[in-house]
Amino acid sequence: MKDTFKHKGKRQQLAAIVEAKGVKDKKVLEAIKNIPRHLFMDSSFEDHAYQDKAFPIAADQTISQPYTVAFQSELLEIKKGETILEIGTGSGYQTAVLCELGAKVYSIERQQELYKKTKLFLSKIGYRPKFLSFGDGYKGLPEYAPFDKIIVTAGAPFVPKALLSQLKVGGRMVIPVGDNVQVMTLYIRKSAKEFEKREYGDFRFVPLLEDKN
Ligand code: SAH
Repeated sequence: MKDTFKHKGKRQQLAAIVEAKGVKDKKVLEAIKNIPRHLFMDSSFEDHAYQDKAFPIAADQTISQPYTVAFQSELLEIKKGETILEIGTGSGYQTAVLCELGAKVYSIERQQELYKKTKLFLSKIGYRPKFLSFGDGYKGLPEYAPFDKIIVTAGAPFVPKALLSQLKVGGRMVIPVGDNVQVMTLYIRKSAKEFEKREYGDFRFVPLLEDKN
């Protein structure tokens, strides 16, 4: 597993592309510059790692597009030390971004193959999420709730009630909602019963599926 000057240079360019598309959060851009995205995908596809594109990984899943990862991360307004629940660990790239932002990350993946592979890989390259779980993200992680922030990285046909209930008052959840196309949606918990909802345009994700596999 090599990370060279060439890779680092390409990451600078990738961060510049993401910035040009409208992401302003310096810490998020810094995370993109720091994380060796090529190591999160099969080495034969290394050439694709620093393009601003989603790409296939194991178990018919994808590593999200860097712009999308950055956009969702920015919407969460993450502060150091906050607890974050991620649904859809996948390759672990978004998990690594959250770790770089200083968050305490809890992440759930429903594909056992990916869960095992990513758990090993993240520790190998030095990222230490608090807890990686093999399970169904629709249920969240009630035993570790409430969370400051929640991020869903698969397309949800509806907003799971369990996730909203695991958000702290004042907390934020970003979730792409829809079937074929998803609307990026932000929920801000105003009180025990009140949520403010904001929408940020169309994105495309692999589906959030029920149960684990
Ligand atoms: N954050 C990932 C994106 C992976 S794609 C990355 O940066 O690579 C979305 C992931 O969500 C897939 O790995 C998929 O298996 C997972 N997923 C789908 N439905 C899920 C569910 N109900 N619970 C947990 N993970 C789920």
